[in-house]
Amino acid sequence: MSQKLYRPTFVEVNLQSIQTNIARLKEMLPSSTEVIAVVKANAYGHGDIEVARAAIQAGASMLAVATPEEALHLRDFDIKEEILVLGAVPVSFLPEASAQNITLTAYSLDWFFATKGNEKPVKVHIKIDSGMGRIGFSSTQDLLTALKFLNEEPNSLEITGVYTHFATADDVNTEYFEKQVSRFESFLEVFKEKPKMIHTSNSAAALQHPSQSWDAVRFGISMYGIAPSPYLNDHLPFSLEKSLSLHTEIVHIKKVNKGDSIGYGAAYTAETEEWIGTLPIGYADGLLRKLHTQKVLVEGKRVPIVGKICMDQCMIRLNGPVDIGEKVVLLGRQGNEEIKVEEWATTLQTIPYEVCCTLSTRIPRIYH
Ligand code: PLP
Repeated sequence: MSQKLYRPTFVEVNLQSIQTNIARLKEMLPSSTEVIAVVKANAYGHGDIEVARAAIQAGASMLAVATPEEALHLRDFDIKEEILVLGAVPVSFLPEASAQNITLTAYSLDWFFATKGNEKPVKVHIKIDSGMGRIGFSSTQDLLTALKFLNEEPNSLEITGVYTHFATADDVNTEYFEKQVSRFESFLEVFKEKPKMIHTSNSAAALQHPSQSWDAVRFGISMYGIAPSPYLNDHLPFSLEKSLSLHTEIVHIKKVNKGDSIGYGAAYTAETEEWIGTLPIGYADGLLRKLHTQKVLVEGKRVPIVGKICMDQCMIRLNGPVDIGEKVVLLGRQGNEEIKVEEWATTLQTIPYEVCCTLSTRIPRIYH
Protein backbone atom coordinates (compact mmCIF):
# COMPACT_ATOMS: atom_id res chain seq x y z
CA MET A 1 0.00 0.00 0.00
CA SER A 2 1.77 3.18 -1.13
CA GLN A 3 -0.80 5.72 0.11
CA LYS A 4 -0.22 6.82 3.74
CA LEU A 5 -3.33 6.18 5.79
CA TYR A 6 -3.79 7.70 9.22
CA ARG A 7 -7.20 6.12 9.58
CA PRO A 8 -6.85 2.43 8.72
CA THR A 9 -10.13 2.23 6.79
CA PHE A 10 -9.92 1.66 3.06
CA VAL A 11 -11.55 0.12 0.03
CA GLU A 12 -9.28 -2.18 -1.90
CA VAL A 13 -9.94 -2.46 -5.62
CA ASN A 14 -8.44 -5.29 -7.58
CA LEU A 15 -8.02 -3.90 -11.09
CA GLN A 16 -6.85 -7.26 -12.36
CA SER A 17 -10.29 -8.70 -11.54
CA ILE A 18 -11.94 -5.94 -13.55
CA GLN A 19 -9.68 -6.75 -16.47
CA THR A 20 -10.40 -10.47 -16.13
CA ASN A 21 -14.16 -9.80 -16.19
CA ILE A 22 -13.78 -7.75 -19.37
CA ALA A 23 -11.60 -10.41 -21.00
CA ARG A 24 -14.11 -13.15 -20.16
CA LEU A 25 -16.97 -11.10 -21.55
CA LYS A 26 -15.05 -10.36 -24.74
CA GLU A 27 -14.39 -14.06 -25.26
CA MET A 28 -18.14 -14.66 -25.25
CA LEU A 29 -19.18 -11.79 -27.52
CA PRO A 30 -18.99 -11.73 -31.30
CA SER A 31 -15.48 -10.51 -32.20
CA SER A 32 -16.84 -7.35 -33.83
CA THR A 33 -18.70 -6.28 -30.67
CA GLU A 34 -16.92 -3.60 -28.68
CA VAL A 35 -17.02 -3.08 -24.93
CA ILE A 36 -18.06 0.27 -23.50
CA ALA A 37 -16.87 0.40 -19.88
CA VAL A 38 -19.51 2.11 -17.73
CA VAL A 39 -17.59 4.19 -15.19
CA LYS A 40 -20.33 6.55 -14.04
CA ALA A 41 -20.79 7.33 -10.34
CA ASN A 42 -17.04 7.13 -9.76
CA ALA A 43 -17.03 3.72 -11.46
CA TYR A 44 -19.79 2.44 -9.17
CA GLY A 45 -17.69 3.59 -6.22
CA HIS A 46 -14.53 1.83 -7.41
CA GLY A 47 -12.72 4.96 -8.67
CA ASP A 48 -13.31 6.29 -12.19
CA ILE A 49 -9.76 7.12 -13.29
CA GLU A 50 -8.12 3.86 -12.29
CA VAL A 51 -11.01 1.73 -13.53
CA ALA A 52 -11.19 3.60 -16.84
CA ARG A 53 -7.48 3.08 -17.44
CA ALA A 54 -7.64 -0.60 -16.48
CA ALA A 55 -10.72 -1.20 -18.64
CA ILE A 56 -9.10 0.40 -21.67
CA GLN A 57 -6.00 -1.68 -21.15
CA ALA A 58 -8.21 -4.77 -21.05
CA GLY A 59 -9.77 -3.92 -24.40
CA ALA A 60 -12.70 -1.59 -23.71
CA SER A 61 -12.86 0.85 -26.60
CA MET A 62 -15.09 3.50 -25.07
CA LEU A 63 -16.21 4.82 -21.69
CA ALA A 64 -19.67 5.80 -20.52
CA VAL A 65 -20.57 8.20 -17.71
CA ALA A 66 -23.77 9.81 -16.53
CA THR A 67 -22.90 13.50 -16.37
CA PRO A 68 -20.77 16.12 -18.13
CA GLU A 69 -18.80 16.59 -14.92
CA GLU A 70 -17.87 12.91 -14.87
CA ALA A 71 -16.72 13.12 -18.49
CA LEU A 72 -14.62 16.21 -17.80
CA HIS A 73 -13.07 14.51 -14.80
CA LEU A 74 -11.80 11.72 -17.07
CA ARG A 75 -10.45 14.27 -19.56
CA ASP A 76 -8.72 16.15 -16.71
CA PHE A 77 -6.76 12.98 -16.08
CA ASP A 78 -5.73 12.80 -19.70
CA ILE A 79 -8.00 9.93 -20.64
CA LYS A 80 -8.31 10.31 -24.40
CA GLU A 81 -10.68 7.51 -25.38
CA GLU A 82 -14.22 8.18 -26.57
CA ILE A 83 -16.58 9.07 -23.75
CA LEU A 84 -20.36 8.87 -24.03
CA VAL A 85 -22.49 10.81 -21.54
CA LEU A 86 -25.59 8.68 -20.94
CA GLY A 87 -27.67 11.27 -19.11
CA ALA A 88 -29.57 14.34 -20.28
CA VAL A 89 -27.15 17.21 -20.76
CA PRO A 90 -28.14 20.87 -21.24
CA VAL A 91 -27.22 22.29 -24.62
CA SER A 92 -25.13 24.92 -22.83
CA PHE A 93 -22.54 22.14 -22.56
CA LEU A 94 -22.22 21.74 -26.36
CA PRO A 95 -19.15 24.01 -26.82
CA GLU A 96 -17.29 22.17 -24.04
CA ALA A 97 -18.38 18.80 -25.43
CA SER A 98 -17.01 19.78 -28.82
CA ALA A 99 -13.75 21.12 -27.41
CA GLN A 100 -13.18 18.01 -25.27
CA ASN A 101 -14.46 15.49 -27.82
CA ILE A 102 -17.22 14.22 -25.54
CA THR A 103 -20.13 12.36 -27.11
CA LEU A 104 -23.57 13.31 -25.84
CA THR A 105 -26.92 11.59 -25.73
CA ALA A 106 -29.52 13.17 -28.01
CA TYR A 107 -32.72 12.19 -26.29
CA SER A 108 -35.68 14.25 -27.50
CA LEU A 109 -36.98 16.45 -30.27
CA ASP A 110 -36.88 19.47 -27.95
CA TRP A 111 -33.23 18.80 -27.25
CA PHE A 112 -32.48 18.70 -30.98
CA PHE A 113 -34.32 21.96 -31.55
CA ALA A 114 -32.45 23.58 -28.66
CA THR A 115 -29.13 22.86 -30.41
CA LYS A 116 -30.10 25.21 -33.28
CA GLY A 117 -27.26 27.55 -34.07
CA ASN A 118 -24.58 25.38 -32.55
CA GLU A 119 -21.53 25.87 -34.72
CA LYS A 120 -18.94 23.42 -33.51
CA PRO A 121 -20.12 19.89 -34.35
CA VAL A 122 -20.72 17.58 -31.40
CA LYS A 123 -20.90 13.81 -31.64
CA VAL A 124 -24.15 12.32 -30.40
CA HIS A 125 -25.68 8.93 -29.87
CA ILE A 126 -29.45 9.03 -30.27
CA LYS A 127 -31.29 7.44 -27.38
CA ILE A 128 -34.42 5.46 -28.11
CA ASP A 129 -36.88 4.86 -25.32
CA SER A 130 -37.99 1.37 -26.28
CA GLY A 131 -39.68 0.71 -22.95
CA MET A 132 -37.52 1.99 -20.10
CA GLY A 133 -39.59 5.16 -19.83
CA ARG A 134 -36.68 7.35 -18.78
CA ILE A 135 -35.13 9.46 -21.56
CA GLY A 136 -35.12 8.95 -25.30
CA PHE A 137 -37.33 9.13 -28.37
CA SER A 138 -40.53 7.22 -27.88
CA SER A 139 -42.10 8.22 -31.20
CA THR A 140 -40.65 7.35 -34.60
CA GLN A 141 -42.29 10.49 -35.98
CA ASP A 142 -40.28 12.66 -33.55
CA LEU A 143 -37.12 10.86 -34.57
CA LEU A 144 -37.88 11.48 -38.24
CA THR A 145 -38.47 15.17 -37.53
CA ALA A 146 -35.18 15.36 -35.60
CA LEU A 147 -33.28 13.79 -38.49
CA LYS A 148 -34.88 16.26 -40.94
CA PHE A 149 -33.96 19.14 -38.63
CA LEU A 150 -30.38 17.89 -38.68
CA ASN A 151 -30.30 17.95 -42.46
CA GLU A 152 -30.98 21.67 -42.24
CA GLU A 153 -28.33 22.15 -39.52
CA PRO A 154 -25.57 19.92 -40.85
CA ASN A 155 -22.79 21.51 -38.80
CA SER A 156 -24.50 21.13 -35.48
CA LEU A 157 -24.45 17.47 -34.51
CA GLU A 158 -22.78 14.37 -35.88
CA ILE A 159 -24.75 11.19 -35.24
CA THR A 160 -22.24 8.48 -34.43
CA GLY A 161 -24.50 6.07 -32.57
CA VAL A 162 -27.97 5.01 -31.60
CA TYR A 163 -28.90 3.07 -28.50
CA THR A 164 -31.53 1.98 -26.06
CA HIS A 165 -31.62 0.61 -22.53
CA PHE A 166 -33.46 -2.48 -21.26
CA ALA A 167 -35.70 -2.45 -18.22
CA THR A 168 -35.86 -6.20 -17.58
CA ALA A 169 -32.75 -7.75 -19.08
CA ASP A 170 -31.86 -9.33 -15.73
CA ASP A 171 -35.16 -11.18 -15.57
CA VAL A 172 -35.87 -14.84 -16.23
CA ASN A 173 -38.91 -13.83 -18.26
CA THR A 174 -37.75 -12.36 -21.60
CA GLU A 175 -41.12 -11.19 -22.89
CA TYR A 176 -40.65 -7.48 -22.11
CA PHE A 177 -37.03 -7.65 -23.24
CA GLU A 178 -38.13 -9.05 -26.63
CA LYS A 179 -40.76 -6.33 -26.91
CA GLN A 180 -38.07 -3.68 -26.37
CA VAL A 181 -35.81 -5.31 -28.97
CA SER A 182 -38.47 -5.22 -31.65
CA ARG A 183 -39.50 -1.69 -30.74
CA PHE A 184 -35.87 -0.58 -31.01
CA GLU A 185 -35.56 -2.30 -34.38
CA SER A 186 -38.57 -0.40 -35.67
CA PHE A 187 -36.80 2.86 -34.73
CA LEU A 188 -33.67 1.75 -36.63
CA GLU A 189 -35.73 1.65 -39.82
CA VAL A 190 -36.18 5.41 -39.61
CA PHE A 191 -32.48 5.96 -40.35
CA LYS A 192 -31.60 6.19 -44.07
CA GLU A 193 -28.02 5.53 -43.11
CA LYS A 194 -27.37 3.42 -40.00
CA PRO A 195 -25.24 5.21 -37.39
CA LYS A 196 -21.77 3.71 -36.89
CA MET A 197 -22.45 2.29 -33.45
CA ILE A 198 -25.66 0.58 -32.45
CA HIS A 199 -25.80 -0.62 -28.86
CA THR A 200 -28.48 -1.91 -26.53
CA SER A 201 -27.01 -4.23 -23.91
CA ASN A 202 -26.15 -3.59 -20.30
CA SER A 203 -24.39 -6.33 -18.28
CA ALA A 204 -27.51 -8.44 -17.94
CA ALA A 205 -28.35 -8.37 -21.64
CA ALA A 206 -24.73 -8.96 -22.63
CA LEU A 207 -24.52 -12.00 -20.33
CA GLN A 208 -27.91 -13.43 -21.22
CA HIS A 209 -28.17 -12.56 -24.90
CA PRO A 210 -24.59 -12.21 -26.21
CA SER A 211 -25.56 -12.89 -29.82
CA GLN A 212 -27.94 -9.88 -29.77
CA SER A 213 -25.18 -7.44 -28.88
CA TRP A 214 -25.04 -5.26 -32.02
CA ASP A 215 -21.82 -3.19 -32.26
CA ALA A 216 -21.08 -2.69 -28.56
CA VAL A 217 -22.25 -3.56 -25.06
CA ARG A 218 -22.32 -1.21 -22.10
CA PHE A 219 -20.66 -3.22 -19.38
CA GLY A 220 -21.28 -1.86 -15.88
CA ILE A 221 -22.00 -3.88 -12.77
CA SER A 222 -20.52 -7.14 -14.03
CA MET A 223 -17.27 -5.48 -15.01
CA TYR A 224 -16.90 -4.99 -11.25
CA GLY A 225 -17.56 -8.69 -10.66
CA ILE A 226 -21.15 -8.43 -9.51
CA ALA A 227 -24.10 -10.22 -11.10
CA PRO A 228 -26.91 -7.86 -12.17
CA SER A 229 -29.55 -9.84 -10.27
CA PRO A 230 -29.90 -12.87 -7.99
CA TYR A 231 -31.34 -14.82 -10.94
CA LEU A 232 -28.30 -14.06 -13.09
CA ASN A 233 -26.00 -14.79 -10.18
CA ASP A 234 -27.18 -18.39 -10.46
CA HIS A 235 -27.06 -18.43 -14.27
CA LEU A 236 -23.79 -16.73 -15.18
CA PRO A 237 -22.17 -17.89 -18.43
CA PHE A 238 -18.73 -17.44 -16.80
CA SER A 239 -17.56 -16.68 -13.29
CA LEU A 240 -17.17 -13.07 -12.28
CA GLU A 241 -14.37 -11.90 -10.02
CA LYS A 242 -15.30 -9.41 -7.34
CA SER A 243 -13.03 -6.40 -7.41
CA LEU A 244 -13.97 -4.47 -4.26
CA SER A 245 -13.34 -5.20 -0.60
CA LEU A 246 -13.70 -3.01 2.48
CA HIS A 247 -11.19 -3.08 5.31
CA THR A 248 -10.47 -1.51 8.64
CA GLU A 249 -8.71 -2.30 11.92
CA ILE A 250 -9.63 -2.43 15.56
CA VAL A 251 -8.56 0.87 17.13
CA HIS A 252 -9.82 0.28 20.67
CA ILE A 253 -10.78 -2.74 22.73
CA LYS A 254 -12.28 -3.22 26.16
CA LYS A 255 -13.81 -5.84 28.40
CA VAL A 256 -17.33 -4.89 29.50
CA ASN A 257 -19.40 -6.39 32.28
CA LYS A 258 -22.84 -7.89 32.15
CA GLY A 259 -25.33 -5.01 32.03
CA ASP A 260 -22.93 -2.47 30.46
CA SER A 261 -24.35 -0.65 27.46
CA ILE A 262 -22.76 0.34 24.17
CA GLY A 263 -23.32 3.30 21.86
CA TYR A 264 -26.04 5.89 21.27
CA GLY A 265 -29.32 5.22 22.98
CA ALA A 266 -27.56 2.57 25.06
CA ALA A 267 -29.24 0.31 22.53
CA TYR A 268 -27.03 -2.71 23.20
CA THR A 269 -26.46 -4.18 26.62
CA ALA A 270 -23.94 -6.92 27.31
CA GLU A 271 -25.57 -10.11 28.52
CA THR A 272 -22.37 -11.35 30.05
CA GLU A 273 -18.73 -10.29 30.29
CA GLU A 274 -17.81 -9.39 26.71
CA TRP A 275 -14.92 -8.07 24.61
CA ILE A 276 -15.94 -5.07 22.56
CA GLY A 277 -13.83 -3.63 19.74
CA THR A 278 -14.22 -0.21 18.15
CA LEU A 279 -13.85 0.26 14.39
CA PRO A 280 -13.09 3.61 12.73
CA ILE A 281 -15.88 3.41 10.18
CA GLY A 282 -19.45 4.65 10.34
CA TYR A 283 -22.46 5.75 8.39
CA ALA A 284 -20.64 8.71 6.88
CA ASP A 285 -18.48 6.12 5.13
CA GLY A 286 -21.45 4.16 3.80
CA LEU A 287 -21.73 1.71 6.70
CA LEU A 288 -25.36 2.74 6.96
CA ARG A 289 -27.21 2.52 10.27
CA LYS A 290 -29.49 -0.19 8.87
CA LEU A 291 -26.41 -2.41 8.65
CA HIS A 292 -26.34 -2.72 12.45
CA THR A 293 -27.38 -6.39 12.16
CA GLN A 294 -24.47 -7.12 9.85
CA LYS A 295 -21.41 -9.22 10.75
CA VAL A 296 -17.77 -8.36 10.06
CA LEU A 297 -14.77 -10.68 9.76
CA VAL A 298 -12.12 -10.82 12.47
CA GLU A 299 -9.52 -13.60 12.61
CA GLY A 300 -11.43 -15.27 9.74
CA LYS A 301 -14.67 -15.46 11.73
CA ARG A 302 -17.97 -13.57 11.57
CA VAL A 303 -18.60 -11.34 14.57
CA PRO A 304 -21.57 -8.98 15.07
CA ILE A 305 -21.79 -5.22 15.04
CA VAL A 306 -23.36 -4.16 18.35
CA GLY A 307 -25.33 -1.04 19.18
CA LYS A 308 -26.12 1.75 16.78
CA ILE A 309 -23.64 2.61 14.05
CA CYS A 310 -22.21 6.10 14.68
CA MET A 311 -21.23 8.59 11.99
CA ASP A 312 -17.54 7.65 12.05
CA GLN A 313 -17.27 4.59 14.30
CA CYS A 314 -19.01 1.40 15.27
CA MET A 315 -18.53 -1.32 17.84
CA ILE A 316 -18.28 -5.08 17.41
CA ARG A 317 -18.48 -7.98 19.85
CA LEU A 318 -15.30 -10.04 19.71
CA ASN A 319 -14.88 -13.70 20.53
CA GLY A 320 -12.06 -12.73 22.91
CA PRO A 321 -9.24 -10.23 23.31
CA VAL A 322 -7.29 -9.29 20.17
CA ASP A 323 -4.53 -6.76 19.54
CA ILE A 324 -5.17 -3.16 18.62
CA GLY A 325 -4.59 -3.07 14.87
CA GLU A 326 -6.24 -6.44 14.31
CA LYS A 327 -7.46 -6.54 10.69
CA VAL A 328 -11.20 -6.42 10.06
CA VAL A 329 -12.94 -7.10 6.77
CA LEU A 330 -16.42 -5.65 6.27
CA LEU A 331 -16.78 -6.67 2.61
CA GLY A 332 -14.64 -9.34 1.04
CA ARG A 333 -12.79 -12.42 2.11
CA GLN A 334 -10.80 -13.23 5.24
CA GLY A 335 -9.66 -16.81 5.66
CA ASN A 336 -12.47 -19.10 4.58
CA GLU A 337 -15.22 -16.58 5.21
CA GLU A 338 -16.57 -14.00 2.79
CA ILE A 339 -19.05 -11.17 3.15
CA LYS A 340 -20.41 -10.16 -0.22
CA VAL A 341 -21.90 -6.90 -1.42
CA GLU A 342 -25.03 -8.96 -2.13
CA GLU A 343 -25.34 -9.74 1.60
CA TRP A 344 -25.30 -6.04 2.50
CA ALA A 345 -27.83 -5.43 -0.27
CA THR A 346 -30.16 -8.00 1.25
CA THR A 347 -29.77 -6.49 4.71
CA LEU A 348 -30.47 -3.04 3.30
CA GLN A 349 -33.31 -4.29 1.10
CA THR A 350 -31.60 -2.82 -1.93
CA ILE A 351 -29.41 -3.90 -4.83
CA PRO A 352 -25.61 -4.30 -4.91
CA TYR A 353 -25.35 -1.31 -7.28
CA GLU A 354 -26.58 0.97 -4.51
CA VAL A 355 -24.27 -0.55 -1.92
CA CYS A 356 -21.19 0.14 -4.07
CA CYS A 357 -22.28 3.71 -4.81
CA THR A 358 -22.97 4.38 -1.14
CA LEU A 359 -19.38 3.75 -0.02
CA SER A 360 -18.44 7.35 0.45
CA THR A 361 -15.52 9.18 -1.10
CA ARG A 362 -14.11 9.68 2.41
CA ILE A 363 -12.82 6.12 2.23
CA PRO A 364 -9.56 5.99 0.29
CA ARG A 365 -9.47 3.53 -2.60
CA ILE A 366 -6.32 1.46 -2.77
CA TYR A 367 -5.50 -0.28 -6.06
CA HIS A 368 -3.57 -3.37 -6.91
N1 PLP B 1 -26.39 1.77 -19.93
C1 PLP B 1 -27.12 2.68 -19.28
C2 PLP B 1 -27.91 3.68 -20.07
C3 PLP B 1 -27.17 2.67 -17.88
O1 PLP B 1 -27.91 3.58 -17.24
C4 PLP B 1 -26.41 1.70 -17.19
C5 PLP B 1 -26.44 1.62 -15.72
O2 PLP B 1 -27.30 1.97 -15.01
C6 PLP B 1 -25.66 0.78 -17.90
C7 PLP B 1 -25.67 0.84 -19.28
C8 PLP B 1 -24.87 -0.29 -17.21
O3 PLP B 1 -25.72 -1.22 -16.63
P1 PLP B 1 -25.15 -2.42 -15.78
O4 PLP B 1 -24.43 -1.81 -14.65
O5 PLP B 1 -26.37 -3.15 -15.34
O6 PLP B 1 -24.26 -3.18 -16.69
